[in-house]
Amino acid sequence: MDKYPKYRKNGIIERIVEPERQIMFRIAWVDDHGQVQVNKGYRIQFNSALGPYKGGIRFHPSVYGGIIKFLGFEQIFKNSLTGLPIGGGKGGSDFDPKGKSDNEIMRFCQAFMSELYRHIGPTTDVPAGDIGVGAREIGYMYGQYKRLTGSFDGVLTGKKIPWGGSLGRTQATGYGAVYFAQNMLEGRGDSLEGKICAVSGAGNVAIYTIEKLYLLGAKPVTCSDSRGMIYHEKGIDVATLKQLKEIESASLSKYTHQHPDAKYISVADYPAGRNHVWSVPCQAAFPSATQNELNGDDAETLLNNGCICISEGANMPSTPEAVEKILKAKIAYGPGKAANAGGVATSQLEMAQNSSMQQWTFEEVDGKLFNIMRNIYTNASETAKEFGQPDNLVFGANIAGFRKVADAMIDQGVM
Ligand code: NDP
Repeated sequence: MDKYPKYRKNGIIERIVEPERQIMFRIAWVDDHGQVQVNKGYRIQFNSALGPYKGGIRFHPSVYGGIIKFLGFEQIFKNSLTGLPIGGGKGGSDFDPKGKSDNEIMRFCQAFMSELYRHIGPTTDVPAGDIGVGAREIGYMYGQYKRLTGSFDGVLTGKKIPWGGSLGRTQATGYGAVYFAQNMLEGRGDSLEGKICAVSGAGNVAIYTIEKLYLLGAKPVTCSDSRGMIYHEKGIDVATLKQLKEIESASLSKYTHQHPDAKYISVADYPAGRNHVWSVPCQAAFPSATQNELNGDDAETLLNNGCICISEGANMPSTPEAVEKILKAKIAYGPGKAANAGGVATSQLEMAQNSSMQQWTFEEVDGKLFNIMRNIYTNASETAKEFGQPDNLVFGANIAGFRKVADAMIDQGVM
């Protein structure tokens, strides 16, 4: 702000913290017992200076306006960092998909879209998935959008391949977080080869982080869900993990049925106030579950155990105390808005394929993702240097992301 007075003169901070539009709505639906249920729905259209609003939809009982707002705010700068023409937004509901039948999920998704459809469109706002929203939920929401508008267009991303999805989108966030770690380590003359890695989560981001780590010669030894974690010294078995989480939607405790040499530790047995995943000695850590899952004590444990690289697949998984300790230790640290941007970047590639009616190969998409992650790393790292804090990628990513949005806002006039 001191270096570029134009940002103060144009009231950029005051404007950028205020969402352009916040939509809150009622979602009423009928459960399998004929009982009416009511949930809250949100869509925050935060900033459209760089393109149509873009950001996921989260279904989780913890969702309230504040969570969607922080995620939407982060999304503005993440999307800017990708170098692609996308603005920032986020949405969700406090609906809990756990234990719901397939029909209940469908009725809820239809009810959610019955309100949301009037606020979104392929050139205005293009939602995607997030926690609790995968290809199944995107399918039900897309079907309802199509029924209400009569239009088959790229209004949601994360679609299945036969009806407009992009190859490589499922893998993109996890693969991207690993590419980002690879770039950070290469920048320090190191690599992921042979590194023991701790991964949290067992959803979309965690599964494909684990898969890519193996492809680059590393060994992921943990994963976790909301009920507990697995420590498998031999390395997490990806096929078992996919079977349990993508097909059966089962608890991770079942992992040990097929791998008796692995340890299952339930959340009740974690040390108080700690996430036990971060107590496992590792050289690289990939928080890939949710916000605030790595606190100051966890960071200290990771650092004491010799962790030299943290790449955040989740959004804001490290608490401010943790971030402070990690930055002080000067290890390779990729904040979520840079390290997990591969997901939204590939969503934009899905939009590009939809609007040009093309389908690119997996290799084409993965190649573009690889280059995008390299560019994000280079941009954050060079900006950090330019502003006198080399290697501080939090600082670099924040400034690089901000600058592009702020300049576009100035170009487009006061609004
Ligand atoms: P999923 O719903 O596929 O998986 C989330 C995983 O985290 C599950 O294993 C879930 O456990 C666990 N989890 C969720 N909430 C909690 C909690 N409060 N405490 C402990 N564990 C929890 O979501 P994604 O993998 O898509 O998302 C994970 C993170 O990555 C989120 O922060 C999301 O915002 C971020 N992200 C996702 C992108 C994407 O493309 N999907 C893109 C960029 C960021 P359980 O199975 O028991 O529910």
